Amino acid sequence: MQAKPDIREFPPVQLEEYLIQKKEKPFRVKQIQEWLWKKSVRSFDEMTNLSLPLRKMLTEDFVINSLKEDFIQKSADGTIKMRFRLYDENLIEGVLIPSIGRITACLSSQAGCSLDCHFCATGFMQLKRNLFAGEIYDQVVLLNRISVEAYGKPLTNIVFMGMGEPLLNYKNVLAAIDKITSENGLNISAKRITVSTSGIAKMIKKLGDDGARFELALSLHSANNMKRSKIMPINGSNPIENLAEALNYFHQKTGNKITFEYILFDGFNDSLEDARELVELCRKVPVSMVNIIEYNPVEAVPYKKSPEKKREVFVNYLERHGVIAKVRHSRGKDIDAACGQLAIKERNGTVK
Ligand code: SAH
Ligand code: SF4
Repeated sequence: MQAKPDIREFPPVQLEEYLIQKKEKPFRVKQIQEWLWKKSVRSFDEMTNLSLPLRKMLTEDFVINSLKEDFIQKSADGTIKMRFRLYDENLIEGVLIPSIGRITACLSSQAGCSLDCHFCATGFMQLKRNLFAGEIYDQVVLLNRISVEAYGKPLTNIVFMGMGEPLLNYKNVLAAIDKITSENGLNISAKRITVSTSGIAKMIKKLGDDGARFELALSLHSANNMKRSKIMPINGSNPIENLAEALNYFHQKTGNKITFEYILFDGFNDSLEDARELVELCRKVPVSMVNIIEYNPVEAVPYKKSPEKKREVFVNYLERHGVIAKVRHSRGKDIDAACGQLAIKERNGTVK
């Protein structure tokens, strides 16, 4: 038996044809879409302005593959990690990070990741599959619900810094952002969304061609090809020169903000020579800021975070050379919710 199609993945034009075939009014498409996205209902029975026979018909012919809350953990610093179960039993994680004046939702774009950055827990998992647009969207809906419950306020910002490489799930990530920012969806400003990428030059250019409206963060971690390739194998096929060119193209086409992410690893990329190479690169790319990220320990990873003193020297060097650098301390470390720590841990005490 063929599986029923997921109605949120079904193109509206085809849905209209389906309705006409079933002798229903084509304008029902709009009502159905509104229930699915703006009102975020997850069963046809809740679509109360549709007739009972139509609701029954939709239930027979379609499914709504939605995320289920699976497990929730709260950190001492207020960060909340949520594990979601997908319809096919795969698991993903999303994080809610409250800070002064904002509440940021950190979303996953894939279950696992196919790239194996040597410092990232997700990289140690295999890629299970790409998430559908609806599954990315649902993370925002569910995290927003938790935000209101836990902090009394809706979330304000979204970063694609959870599991997976968003630009390797390009179509669905963009479709999800489209709905998240749409008046017919969650109506969140694209300016409050940041997509973080390990750097796939061709797709960064495509973002420029497609007129992306969100901000872009490049996970750089070294401005030196040899070093970067050592910790990020993707750099072999996407070296820094190609990324710099792609980022210039992206900026020229969209004018959107670009930032670099830079984890400081002790004795690996935290010397003054490393800082000098970074400054040089910042002069070639329209980057507005470098986020200096604290390394979050991941089991079996040989790197350590830089000591505070070295970090200060590094940051001072950047600032003296006109590069704006912001130190980002990690959040939610005690529950493995910090950047790079998202990996599904089964049967080790973190499961229900
Ligand atoms: N795949 C995308 C987005 C998800 S990773 C990317 O790589 O950009 C989100 C961020 O977490 C990236 O900047 C990544 O380099 C960083 N990260 C990965 N492992 C980390 C760790 N152990 N400590 C701190 N940051 C980490
Ligand atoms: Fe994948 Fe990003 Fe982790 Fe690299 S850092 S393995 S691209 S999730």
